[in-house]
Amino acid sequence: TITPLIAGNWKMNGLRASLDELTALAEMMTAGEAPRAIVVICPPATILAAVARQGATSGILAGGQDCHPAASGAHTGDIAAGMLADAGAQYVIVGHSERRAAHGETDDIVRAKAEAAIGAGLKPIICVGETEAERDGGSAESVVVSQLAGSIPDAAGQHDVIVAYEPVWAIGTGRTPSNDDIAQMHDAIRRQLVTRFGDKGQAIHILYGGSLKPQNAREILAISNVNGGLVGGASLLAKDFATIISAV
Ligand code: 13P
Repeated sequence: TITPLIAGNWKMNGLRASLDELTALAEMMTAGEAPRAIVVICPPATILAAVARQGATSGILAGGQDCHPAASGAHTGDIAAGMLADAGAQYVIVGHSERRAAHGETDDIVRAKAEAAIGAGLKPIICVGETEAERDGGSAESVVVSQLAGSIPDAAGQHDVIVAYEPVWAIGTGRTPSNDDIAQMHDAIRRQLVTRFGDKGQAIHILYGGSLKPQNAREILAISNVNGGLVGGASLLAKDFATIISAV
């Protein structure tokens, strides 16, 4: 029994005014029944500290969207995991497909980032997922298995990490895999985690991400080995995100 986790990835969206949306979310969460999920918001770094401060009063946790593998140094524009922790984050997304594609992040880089996150006391949300061509070519599972092998550090045997399966072709497109395809992939991920980490591998969250919406959340979040979701677009509106949280 893994407590489900619903994380919102705001990506490059959000100004200080967006904190009002967080207030609205907190109100909806306290108005309904207590959420059955751990709720995390990963805002842009500019408002991370404010989200963490505000979330602390309403049980909403904060996460970064990326971190640098190094603890400090001459890396203009980058953010160290320790800085995210210092701002109040407890989680950080690493290896999102948008960073793998637009910033050339390899499995080795993603694994180094996850190690840095663990070193700073953060829980890394490690993202994997196949492209449409890979799915069509029948290699989705082998691609994901290989990304997992390369992206998850050995330290995951002793520390908390989270895996997010996000098929690249489902992100921001309104398309999702069939429930059977999601089940098959999450089962394959679980098998690999257990093979590598034993009992610890049974306890690792495997989130689904990619066009998770109020309309499909209930059925997707009910699939076995789906232990929550990583939500992009639908996390920007409090009402939509609250609906997804209550679908757990
Ligand atoms: P969408 O929910 O907008 O498809 O984005 C998913 C995602 O990339 C979350 O990290």
